[in-house]
Amino acid sequence: MAPYEKGLVEVGDRCWAYLQPDGGWGWSNAGLISAGDNSLLVDTLFDLRLTGEMLEQMKSITGTAPIGTVVNTHANGDHCYGNQLVSDAEIISSVACAEEMPRTPPAMLAGLMAAAPEMGPLGEYLQRCFGAFRFEGIELTLPTRTFEGRLNVDIGDRTIELIEVGPAHTEGDVIAHVPDARTVFTGDILFIEGTPLMWAGPLSNWVKACDLILDLDVDTIVPGHGPVTDKAGVRRVKEYLEFIGREATARHEAGMSAAEAARDISLGEFGRWLDAERVAVNVDSIYRELDRPEETTDVVTLFSMMASLAV
Ligand SMILES: [Zn+2]
Repeated sequence: MAPYEKGLVEVGDRCWAYLQPDGGWGWSNAGLISAGDNSLLVDTLFDLRLTGEMLEQMKSITGTAPIGTVVNTHANGDHCYGNQLVSDAEIISSVACAEEMPRTPPAMLAGLMAAAPEMGPLGEYLQRCFGAFRFEGIELTLPTRTFEGRLNVDIGDRTIELIEVGPAHTEGDVIAHVPDARTVFTGDILFIEGTPLMWAGPLSNWVKACDLILDLDVDTIVPGHGPVTDKAGVRRVKEYLEFIGREATARHEAGMSAAEAARDISLGEFGRWLDAERVAVNVDSIYRELDRPEETTDVVTLFSMMASLAV
């Protein structure tokens, strides 16, 4: 398995992961696949400085095989806010991802972070999560090509299979499978050694996405956050999701509120994963599914729930 150190690491035949330990809030991974005189980038990073640093490191490969294609695995900023630095490339995402992206523009995060010092415990939590990133001056750069279901992208002599598995973590999650390298880049369908975060759901779809990855003929699995993993890592994420599903549903039946349930669930060994307070969002999503599937909970409320669990 590739070492979990910051930077570019080769994980398979002409496949690299760009890793950002510790994989907590905003510290996402990206991927690079090259063939002939062309490369495909899987995701950009949360701000321009970090994305610029990554692209600089990739020059040893992209100098002769420039990035002609970018895939955004989903709409969260830590996977697409750096798009403006690769805006000459074709940028591909699912239709649902492209629709979701403008709902959380960088300026919104910049405003929230500017206000954070006056926001009490919620502000302190936001600064702890996002204080290391710079959202000012980022121009949201949207995908230029979208698809639903599956899309095969040919670069050089190889085919990369894009598979839409959302809605799960977000509305339009996509994974990028490189069959000839037995490698898959999963975006935030996998958090490894960090707590999965279900903004969208339904839970059953996320479990199905894990099963789809388990059925792929792959050895190397690059998650959206955390170290490079294998199928054992996928099974752990699936176990977490099924555990939270059972625990939240039982408390819903017992008449507890979502906030009470999130506080009441004893995470056991899952509590050792980073950002365990995300259980609040996961329980809220499961409750929404049970009670009011058409509604969403606003993001500030969700961060307030996590802030109160994180203290
Ligand atoms: Zn992420």
